[in-house]
Amino acid sequence: MRAPQSHLRFAPARLPEETAELRADLRALLEREHRAGTWEDRGKSWNGHCPELSRKLGEAGFLGLTFPKQYGGHERTQLDRYVVTEELLAAGAPTAAHWVADRQSGPLILRFGSDEQKERFVPPIARGESCFCIGMSEPDSGSDLASLACRATRVDGGWSLSGTKIWTSNAHFADYCIVCCRTEAKDDGNRHAGLSQVIVDLKGSTGITVRPILNLGGLHEFNEVVFDDCFVPDDCLLGEPGDGWHQVTSELAYERSGPERFLTNFHVLRALVGVLSQSDRESTRRLVGSLLSRLWALRQASISVAGMLQAGELPNVEASLVKDVGTALQQELPEIARAVALDEQIDDVAFWEVVHHATMLAPAYTIQGGTTEILRGIIARGLRLR
Ligand SMILES: Cc1cc2nc3c(=O)[nH]c(=O)nc-3n(C[C@H](O)[C@H](O)[C@H](O)COP(=O)(O)OP(=O)(O)OC[C@H]3O[C@@H](n4cnc5c(N)ncnc54)[C@H](O)[C@@H]3O)c2cc1C
Repeated sequence: MRAPQSHLRFAPARLPEETAELRADLRALLEREHRAGTWEDRGKSWNGHCPELSRKLGEAGFLGLTFPKQYGGHERTQLDRYVVTEELLAAGAPTAAHWVADRQSGPLILRFGSDEQKERFVPPIARGESCFCIGMSEPDSGSDLASLACRATRVDGGWSLSGTKIWTSNAHFADYCIVCCRTEAKDDGNRHAGLSQVIVDLKGSTGITVRPILNLGGLHEFNEVVFDDCFVPDDCLLGEPGDGWHQVTSELAYERSGPERFLTNFHVLRALVGVLSQSDRESTRRLVGSLLSRLWALRQASISVAGMLQAGELPNVEASLVKDVGTALQQELPEIARAVALDEQIDDVAFWEVVHHATMLAPAYTIQGGTTEILRGIIARGLRLR
């Protein structure tokens, strides 16, 4: 039997010294805004909606960091963007108003869009004024995205879109949704053929119903979105018709590789360290030390992924591994925090609220952006184990 060939590679990467200034500037802005009461609840992080903060971040030059200057960007590196993302997450800043647009919709439009689409959609993203959401999952298509049924048919001047998307985060306040839909009949020989992506103007179109779905924490973060004969003009078809699968999978690479996959729960660790600061128990200190070292190892792996992206590589397997290990740690964290705080007889109400809230949201981490099983399939294929 031939031994499996390993393609796993975490090239050592360091954050360049120039990023220290960027980090300090952003940290100062965030501290100022937090003190001024722009936001209070650190727990919502990239699910928290604060258009005012997103605009301020855009104005200060922290968004569209890697985009071309021609489209309002700053032509900085993936490692610069990494630092900005890390600081926003560590501060628990509410960033949902720009997160998806800055992370994946902007890069997607820059890569596959027409010049007119780049001019129209990208500068407002860099200014933090344009909110996008992701229209991939459907009631009967999640992991198996290629089976989706949402359909766009040709009409005069554009397309008529009909079908249902589900779990669509932020659709209730987003300006646009990039919808993956079928534009050609199913080809049983090639399941990935005949898909396309369209940019749907959620506020300016008719034939769209957005219904809230409350998550386990009772929060309204995602939705069911029904398109019923919704008109999408020709100039909102993104990329080539029929090329949607290739586009959507490159979009997922942006979605999976960032530090949100291990830092969304950073406020839980912060709260835990806060309440345990007086503890002199050796076992507690060891536990906190082990959590921090796991986090640090993930951070090094994640910086390495950012370094490879900057070098123009496509580290899909490494990014999947970071998401798998990172989301597992995020899911464990509230459980560990609960156990050690019970042991230490912590009765700080604010701390317990943080832990309870994080416990309710934790199951989502290993589902959103691709489930653990799907990621492990990608890793196994990358390592030629299947
Ligand atoms: C908080 C949150 C936010 C989300 N936001 C969005 C969004 O904005 N836009 C969007 O489009 N979607 C969004 N999603 C949906 C998410 O992408 C899907 O839930 C996910 O892809 C899984 O699809 P599913 O729920 O249909 O589960 P299914 O695909 O039905 O999977 C069910 C179970 O079967 C397992 N499974 C499925 N296929 C395989 C296989 N081949 N091998 C092994 N195991 C398998 C899965 O791992 C899972 O455990 C969000 C989800 C969450 C939790």
